[in-house]
Amino acid sequence: MPGFELFGSAERKEVQDVLDSGVLMRYGFDGMRNGHWKAKALEAELQEKLQVKHAQLVSSGTAAVSVALAVAGVGVGDEVIMPTFTFVASFEAIMMMGAIPVLVDIDDTLTLDPIAVEAAITSKTKAIMPVHMCGSMADLNALQAICKKHNLLLIEDACQAIGGSYNGKPLGSIGDVGCFSFDFVKTITCGEGGAVITNNETYFKNADHFTDHGHDHEGMDRGAETHPFLGYNFRISELQAAVGLAQARRLYDFVAIQKKHYGILRDVLSTIPEVVFRTVPEGGEESYGFLNFFLPDLEIARTVSKTFKETGVDACFHYFDNNWHYIRKWDHLKDVKTLYPISSEVKKGLEYLQTKTFEQSDQYIARNISCLIKLSWTEEAVKARAEKMKNAILDALK
Ligand SMILES: *Cc1c(COP(=O)(O)O)cnc(C)c1O
Repeated sequence: MPGFELFGSAERKEVQDVLDSGVLMRYGFDGMRNGHWKAKALEAELQEKLQVKHAQLVSSGTAAVSVALAVAGVGVGDEVIMPTFTFVASFEAIMMMGAIPVLVDIDDTLTLDPIAVEAAITSKTKAIMPVHMCGSMADLNALQAICKKHNLLLIEDACQAIGGSYNGKPLGSIGDVGCFSFDFVKTITCGEGGAVITNNETYFKNADHFTDHGHDHEGMDRGAETHPFLGYNFRISELQAAVGLAQARRLYDFVAIQKKHYGILRDVLSTIPEVVFRTVPEGGEESYGFLNFFLPDLEIARTVSKTFKETGVDACFHYFDNNWHYIRKWDHLKDVKTLYPISSEVKKGLEYLQTKTFEQSDQYIARNISCLIKLSWTEEAVKARAEKMKNAILDALK
C-alpha cells in the first residue's frame, strides 16, 4: 500500500517547483509563486480521479474526519455510529467535536454490520460513519437506506481505501462527505495530509473556510477577508501537496499493482479450504491495499501470525492483539482518559463501554489476518511469499 515505496523523479520535480518559488503556503503570495499552486492542483486531481465535485485538502486524515463532522453540523451531544474495528482517529475526531462515539459490531465484511447499526439508532443519532478498513466497504446500499429512513448523515472514512469503488462509484464519493488520509503509510502519501470530498456545495464552502480559521477566501487581500464563522487551522502546506500531486496522478497505476500482487497471493491461499476471505458486498471493488482472510479459530490465527513473523512474512496483522485498531485494547477510550475536562453528557454517553461486549466483532477479528500489499514487490517475491504463507497455514492446521 504505501505510496512512498514508489517515490521518484516525479515527486522531486513537484517539490523542487515549490522550493524554487519559495512559497510553502497554499494561499496568497500570488506574485512570488511562479504559477505554482500545488494544493489546488492536487484538489483538481482528486476531483477528477474520485469523480466528485469538490475536494478540500487538510493536514491529516484525522483532520479530514474532524472537518467532515464539523461541516455536516455534527457537534455537542450528537451520537455518531462507528465500527469497533477502525483506527483510533475515528473516536478521537468524534470526541473533538463534543459528540459521542457509538461503537457497533462489524460483520464478515470487517466493516459496519447494518443490522447492528440500525439497532444502535437513538433520538440523538446524527451520523453513521462506516470505515472502509483495509481497502473494502460495508453494504453501503443498506447503510444509505438506513440513513434515508432515519434522516442521518453518511460520512465515509475512506482513509484506507482510496481507489476502491462501490457500484462503479469511487469510495468516499458515495456518502455526504468522504475522508482520506495521505499519511506516510497510506496508498497515496504526502508525509502528512488528508482530504475531504463532497458533492455538496455548502459542505465544501464550509470546509474551505473552516480549515483556514474561517477566512472566507474572497478577494485578493488576505487581511481583509471576513469570517462567516469560527474556524481552525487544518491547512496542508505546498510541499506536502507537491508530493501528493505526483502520487495522486499515479493512483490507478498503484491500484493496478496492488491488484496484481493481491491476486497472486489470493490464488495460492484459495487452495486451502479452511481459508475464508473477507466478504466484499455485491457491487464492491476493493482497493487491494490488503488481503484479508479468516482462519478457523483464534489459536490457529495466533500461530499463523507468529510463524509469519518468524519466517519473514512481514506486514501481516492479527488485529485481535493490536492496540491501535480494535476496541479490545482501547482502555483509554473505555476509561475516558482525556487530558482536559469534557462534558458530563459525553462522559455519560460513553458509560456503555464499561459493560458492553462485542462477541460478534470478536469472533471475526480473532480469526482474521490482514496482509498489507506492497507496491515494490517483484513478482518472484510475491510468489515466494505466497508459498511461505501457504506453508505456515498448512502447518498450523495440522
Ligand atoms: C490513517 C487513518 C486515519 C487517520 O489518518 P492520519 O492522516 O494518520 O491522521 C483515519 N482513519 C483510518 C481508517 C486510517 O487508516
